[in-house]
Amino acid sequence: MGLAAAYTPGWLSAQVKAEPTREHRIAGVELFPYALESKQVTRIALGKVAAEGVFVRLRTGEGLVGWGEASPYAPITGEMQASCLAIGKRLAQVVQGRDVFDLARIVADMDAVAAANPSIKAALEMALWDLCGKLARQPVCYLLGRYRDSFETDRTVYLDEPPAMADKAKEIVREGYKVVKVKVGQSPELDVARVRAIRTAIGEKVRIRIDANQGWTRDTALKALWSLEEFDVEFCEQPVASSDWEGLRQVSEHSRIPIMADESVHGPSDAIECVRRGAANLINIKLMKSGGILKSMHIAAIAEAAHMQCMLGSMVETRLALTAAAHVVAAQKCVVYADLDTFTEHKIDPVVGGMQVKDGLVTVPQTPGLGVDVEADFLKTLKPA
Ligand SMILES: [Mg+2]
Repeated sequence: MGLAAAYTPGWLSAQVKAEPTREHRIAGVELFPYALESKQVTRIALGKVAAEGVFVRLRTGEGLVGWGEASPYAPITGEMQASCLAIGKRLAQVVQGRDVFDLARIVADMDAVAAANPSIKAALEMALWDLCGKLARQPVCYLLGRYRDSFETDRTVYLDEPPAMADKAKEIVREGYKVVKVKVGQSPELDVARVRAIRTAIGEKVRIRIDANQGWTRDTALKALWSLEEFDVEFCEQPVASSDWEGLRQVSEHSRIPIMADESVHGPSDAIECVRRGAANLINIKLMKSGGILKSMHIAAIAEAAHMQCMLGSMVETRLALTAAAHVVAAQKCVVYADLDTFTEHKIDPVVGGMQVKDGLVTVPQTPGLGVDVEADFLKTLKPA
């Protein structure tokens, strides 16, 4: 009998029969690069977006499998598929042989081995969470502390001419979405024309949020935002350059449309900076910027303590990493917005199980772990790196 068991009070031992501590060590780490074709060219103020990522499969000694995904986007995190594979191989050595429940320790060790590289770290960490959930026989959001089971996601209209964007917005509303996210960040005149065309096309009831992806200067941001007030825009993401903290603060101060920090906030330290400077009203959390579920939970905790609300956003990922993000939304009271729609732009959906979206409403899987798998036939087409 162990020391802990010897001191367990009678009333507790009668109710809780803890399983004896067992180690579940990682016996295999595989990285699968993938490329998915998009239905259309998706363009934002930072350039074109392509779905080239990495699936991660971890295997325990007992043969249990955990899945993760990296969705790198170089203009924001400096990562691409090739760098995810190169650093991923190094990080695999950190994960190999470790007990999956030492997750926070493994995350710290990955940071010690390689700075930055948040997307591939998120992929490995997400796969560990998947295993933790499967071993505990609980969905990941139960391990994190469940707050909600379902939530609304928006769907994005990418940069194009105003009439084409209005048509796309109408299509999104026909599909049942209640919130349209509009990419802007070019000339204020063109951006205002875009939002006007969309508001006219979809009416007053559908919510509109916008994302400038750093495309404006302090002056053009305010010019655009003041003109956009009449179109009932719920908030604007990242109006100015990610490093322009003072500009972000000034725009937030003078704009009646609330401002959300996205590219300015990657990890928890950035969230502290954002709070300290009063630089934005809201924060957009992404697993691919923060480095995983744990750090995304930390950002949300900072925001909540500062009485701020957050969105959970996405890069170009499939429903695999989006499902991991959905578990964070499910666990965080202050995450009241979601932008988990990137899979809708891919020609195929290679993920089975996972979060489901109907009429814009996301339901989080209630099966153990993340509740996702990569479709078997699609996996056969991939070569491990
Ligand atoms: Mg954004």
